[in-house]
Amino acid sequence: MTTETATSFDQLHLNEFLLKALNDVGYEKPSPIQAETIPLLLAGRDVLGQAQTGTGKTAAFALPMLSNLDMKQKDPQVLVLAPTRELAIQVAEACQTYAKHMKGFHVLPVYGGADSRAQVRALDRGVHVVVGTPGRVMDHIRRGKLRLDSLKTLVLDEADEMLRMGFIDDVEWILEQTPEQRQIALFSATMPTQIRRIATKYLNDPAQVTIKVKTQTAETIRQRFWPVSGLHKLDALTRILEAEEFDAMIIFVRTKTATTELAEKLEARGYATAPLSGDIQQNQRERTIQNLKNKKLDIIVATDVAARGLDVPRISHVVNYDVPHDTESYVHRIGRTGRAGREGDAILFVAPREKRMLNAIERATNKKIERMELPTTEMINDQRVAKFKQKITDTLAAEDISMFQQMIEQYQEEHNVPAIEIAAVLALLMQGETPFLLSNKPAQKAKSQDDWDNADSSRHSNRDSRNSRDRAPRDRTPRDRAPRERSSRERTPRDNSPPDAGMMRYRLEVGYNHDVKPGNIVGAIANEGNIDSKYIGRINIDENYSTVDLPDDLSRDVIVTLRKARVAGRPLNISPEGQLKREDKEGAPPAREKASRKERTIERSKGKIKLKEKNSNDKTKKKVKKKVRTNRPAIRPGAKKVSD
Ligand code: ADP
Ligand code: MG
Repeated sequence: MTTETATSFDQLHLNEFLLKALNDVGYEKPSPIQAETIPLLLAGRDVLGQAQTGTGKTAAFALPMLSNLDMKQKDPQVLVLAPTRELAIQVAEACQTYAKHMKGFHVLPVYGGADSRAQVRALDRGVHVVVGTPGRVMDHIRRGKLRLDSLKTLVLDEADEMLRMGFIDDVEWILEQTPEQRQIALFSATMPTQIRRIATKYLNDPAQVTIKVKTQTAETIRQRFWPVSGLHKLDALTRILEAEEFDAMIIFVRTKTATTELAEKLEARGYATAPLSGDIQQNQRERTIQNLKNKKLDIIVATDVAARGLDVPRISHVVNYDVPHDTESYVHRIGRTGRAGREGDAILFVAPREKRMLNAIERATNKKIERMELPTTEMINDQRVAKFKQKITDTLAAEDISMFQQMIEQYQEEHNVPAIEIAAVLALLMQGETPFLLSNKPAQKAKSQDDWDNADSSRHSNRDSRNSRDRAPRDRTPRDRAPRERSSRERTPRDNSPPDAGMMRYRLEVGYNHDVKPGNIVGAIANEGNIDSKYIGRINIDENYSTVDLPDDLSRDVIVTLRKARVAGRPLNISPEGQLKREDKEGAPPAREKASRKERTIERSKGKIKLKEKNSNDKTKKKVKKKVRTNRPAIRPGAKKVSD
């Protein structure tokens, strides 16, 4: 099949509510797998889809199945099986997002570890879509709580992953329980024989959709990737902007909304930046490109579509801020630099769960992408100092300073203050509110490196290795787990363990008694706080309250918004739980393997300035503590993070 297909969602005959929601989330056009799969599923065909991660498979099955729902029917019409709790929540959350204008829509994520009774109550009340991990779904079917008589569609998401995790018998058992006439969509990144066998046995004349990629990248482009974790892509980008010598840069993001958001942030940091997306009028788009050419702009933040074919020779750098949908769009993207034999630089941000895409790109382009180290705080600061000095030199050479010189001389005599002190005061005034030096955040860096290294073991095999958080063991009952899994995989600590490095535990004033489900919490936090669900860590639900682990660098604004967010009709009233943050416990005996990993990274990152930071998102603990280990100048007390 080709990948040249529908160019807009409007052409896909989806219901108007979905189109509205798609416009809200800012998807510009269907990804290749969506363009191919949506018409097939809408028409009732079974589909066997093969595509890499990050290609937009969720919407590829969610949109047609939502479009076909009978809203009055309260027994589940769609069942999605996913390998992990995290993925189940993600899919449920995506359904919620796409169906947000469909009144009365209910989706229920079900997975092990979460309260079964709450799930049963929700099932009794009626849901349209159930998304679950095989073990828990099986339990509910066995106990007669999940009835499949009205099931229209069964989706197997990440089938190869379910196979790998030992769920295949459960999946087959569930398949056996579904009605004769149901539609099946099976998605998998790879097609091992066992998955093929299932497809042959259960799918009815399936349409095969394979997203193939033809790819070539210019030899003159230097390709690097930076491993991401936490909420620090913007920080990383700011450092890169300071440290890389670039002429013009194009930064790729996924959505139209993101183009404006990021462009505004960069503009606020003093970079001449503009967004470029399908939402912007044609003549304005042309003006933007013209401005990039004639150096009125240096940075453009774009979506794939808007930047297609863009040809501006001075673009020296392409930053893939969001991972591309497929290897082909990666090639298109980086082809915006290195034009006509010039040299160019391409930088790719890759979160642990997106590593499969990195592997896919390397395979498709047959080139290794080198891992880049982010410029250290010291490097950035050295550069700032050097630039500061250079400015003095340049100004001395170019400007007439006699008038100011006289004034300074006068001041010197009148107040008996040495000229050097006067100069320092003037520099301080010139600097204004913004701290001159960048402050260090070693714990954050450590987290990202560790997450990556842990997930890195199979980087060059065909198998994806997911973020450990995706594999939360609470998801699986012992019966669920395949024997080989049990021995080889390290286990994440259970309920009472402290949050992971870089995370912090929050208390929410809603619990079982309020009928709250993890999905609600994830939904509220993700939607209200605008936090990607992959950054939402462990959730524990108690009778009257719950806890959730969130990145420890949430801004105050986010916390304030979240405090007001409501779940099950009650305000979350989010607050930090008893200062459980791992970084604060330095010196305490490391309880588990994660702690010792952390220690190692502290060793590694023993820089000249060591910062210990408390929860920066709460005013009660906003101060930055620091110890200066050498005679480096201390950063001004209370200095806030410059790069934000
Ligand atoms: P996969 O299941 O193939 O790994 P997902 O369905 O999780 O991929 O999608 C990956 C990301 O791409 C999600 O953040 C999703 O919101 C986004 N996305 C999906 N479709 C589109 C689209 N048409 N335009 C822009 N972003 C999209
Ligand atoms: Mg997926």
